[in-house]
Amino acid sequence: MDRDPVEALAKAAADGVEFDGLSARLDGERLHVATEGSTTTVAADGTLADLPAPLAASVTNWFYWDAIAPEQSAGRAFLRWLEGASEGEQSTVPERYDALETGVSREWGQLLLTARLADQGTRRYEVRHVDDQDVPISELAVKTALDDATAIARRDDRDRYRPLKTAPTLPRGWVFPDLGPDAVLSIVGELYPATIENWYREREGDLDVTHYREAAQRQTGRYQSVSELPSEALEWAAEACCVDPECLKRREWDETEDEVLDVPRGDGSFPCREPCSLFVAAAKEWTSLEDEATRTYEIELTPSERDQLEAIVDAVADGQTDQIREADLGAGANRYRARYLRAKRFEGDASGAFEMADGSDPSEEHTTE
Ligand code: SF4
Repeated sequence: MDRDPVEALAKAAADGVEFDGLSARLDGERLHVATEGSTTTVAADGTLADLPAPLAASVTNWFYWDAIAPEQSAGRAFLRWLEGASEGEQSTVPERYDALETGVSREWGQLLLTARLADQGTRRYEVRHVDDQDVPISELAVKTALDDATAIARRDDRDRYRPLKTAPTLPRGWVFPDLGPDAVLSIVGELYPATIENWYREREGDLDVTHYREAAQRQTGRYQSVSELPSEALEWAAEACCVDPECLKRREWDETEDEVLDVPRGDGSFPCREPCSLFVAAAKEWTSLEDEATRTYEIELTPSERDQLEAIVDAVADGQTDQIREADLGAGANRYRARYLRAKRFEGDASGAFEMADGSDPSEEHTTE
């Protein structure tokens, strides 16, 4: 800290200062400082040591937010929310400092963000995976750079590419233990792009939502077809992609402003203001599939085999296949059971497993290119 906070306050107090319960006024060479229940007057060139403890806390708090924290509205609001200092939250500066001594934590998607008090009211921030909450730092990989966040966001715990950064698949095992205010905002922005800005816009009543039909109309080239996705299929698509187990954003867009999708929006902290590129890519596939006419097939299955097909679809759709042990032969999506079903019902002439109910040739079933 280059300047003493009292010196900085004296300069600002020429115009009067009111911040977080602190009042300051400069009267010639005297600086009058007050908080609820405590008032003092010091020399304008005094130092923090001249102030009683509660006033010193309020002055360093003012200095942090005036001279060190970012001015940019969204980032500033986010950092204040992080330590429980948002408008409407009642804690006083001494109460907040007490909490910050041990650390104040908030969840942001799968991130656990912690603000702590450092030297002379400065804040330092930590970012880690929320599931690593109780893991000692010595057991985590310590990260410091923005490139580290880029790498973390790219692949999941099984080293698979993550096409959607807000999918709940962030890998564990790392920590950014000691970040300044600008750095913590950059790291969160890298892990969850634009979430802070959209959260802030929403708080300010300023979130500009682009609904599906409007977004689809804007698509060009190979994605132009997505405007033809039927309404019912759009509901299925939102159920497939946008619910909490798939994406941590809270969907705020609908089919149009007046045509609301009957799909849970999610409980995420940050909003989704328009269909993302992954959703549009998926919509392109489903638009093409919805173009096919339905046909009626006949296949002979035992009741258990019918249940098994349903269990396989559920296991794949819910990403559960890896959790079904090979020894668990009672599970419908067990690999051996699936192989048995394939050998019994689908092997050889696979397309012949399903008989067309009208007796026509199943190889002629596809009507789209
Ligand atoms: S469109 Fe759906 S999947 Fe994409 S970011 Fe928004 S909520 Fe998530």
